[in-house]
Amino acid sequence: MNCLYGCKVIWAQDRPSADGARKGRLMMFELLEYFRGRQSEMLDLLTEMVKRESFTRDKVKVDRLVDFLEAKLNALGADTVQRTTQAEVGDFLLAKWNKNAPGMPYLFMIHIDTVHPIGALSTMPVCCEDGRYFGPGALDMKAGAIIAFEAIQALCQRGQLPNRPIHLLITTDEEIGSPYSEALIKELAADCALALVMEPATKEGAIKTWRKGGGKYELVIEGRASHAGIAPQEGINAIIEFAQQALEINRLNDLKYGTSVSITTVEGGSAGNVIPALVRAQIDTRVLTMEAMHDLHAALTDLYPKMPGAKVTCTRQHHRPPMERRRDLFDKAAAIGERYGVTIYEAGTGGGSDGNFTAAMGIPTLDGLGAHGDGAHATHEHVIIDSLPRQATLIAAILMEW
Ligand SMILES: [Zn+2]
Repeated sequence: MNCLYGCKVIWAQDRPSADGARKGRLMMFELLEYFRGRQSEMLDLLTEMVKRESFTRDKVKVDRLVDFLEAKLNALGADTVQRTTQAEVGDFLLAKWNKNAPGMPYLFMIHIDTVHPIGALSTMPVCCEDGRYFGPGALDMKAGAIIAFEAIQALCQRGQLPNRPIHLLITTDEEIGSPYSEALIKELAADCALALVMEPATKEGAIKTWRKGGGKYELVIEGRASHAGIAPQEGINAIIEFAQQALEINRLNDLKYGTSVSITTVEGGSAGNVIPALVRAQIDTRVLTMEAMHDLHAALTDLYPKMPGAKVTCTRQHHRPPMERRRDLFDKAAAIGERYGVTIYEAGTGGGSDGNFTAAMGIPTLDGLGAHGDGAHATHEHVIIDSLPRQATLIAAILMEW
């Protein structure tokens, strides 16, 4: 059985009493219909956000979007909107509703920075085609922010916001691994009941129940320089040492178990007639489980030199732990969605998000709650327009019923 909008409906089957079924359908249609009626406002707001380009590395531009959203959050009736000044990236915003209510808060996690350099709008203009909305950063994840705003606004207006604090955090450094917001995210998540990560769903519309963890390492090989013609025997060739290490590192791949280890950049040597004394390389690692993360870390930091006199150092520069799959959380969200006519699916991804931090702390985390679409980080980035009201319904339902 499908509802007006093509969503599978099982409410009536769940509730055998005719009265309950009628009431349930009413609620379901009412919420979905309400958000359908808001679709053009949601798209207008999306355009306002997309046209304020927000490449992570351009603080001035990102702060213009932060200014816009600070006003927007105040207009949405937040009790407080707190702005945390940042030196290197755009400022962060933390809005709170029901701030004095009892209970542990729900935490929305939203990043507004994008990977698209300023000026991308000239080659990727905003346009709508075949039910899709194109624009840089629209999917990842400006549309996700709008879905959260809409759900909160609707419940505020109806007096149906749950009687507990609702926190909404906007950050500006996710696309570079959240180096400035990680501590704040962890601090806010520590006492929250549920983290709602508004990253895009998969293109098939599945929320993300697992994400690989990722670690970036720097490998430094030190040898000894020497004249390649006069005294090659006195040198220690860092490139030859690197070549042997590279093969060993490559053997740490275990793709069947989701572990990948990729040497992604390498630079070394100083001149065409000098035995090279130094090589630097970057290593990208991805894992599915905490156990794999610890094993891999031990292997990489235990590398020992193959050539006498060479020195090998491998250090982790940044990492996000894996978000391990939690079936119970998905089942609960799916059951709530079904009651409001929104069927959800689950999937996972090799890409990380801020949800990795909260999940690794043991905080119930739902990720990929944003818009459906495709092409994140690419020139064909787009949002499936009718997923906006659908996801807003899901978020409102989760807020009311979790
Ligand atoms: Zn994102």
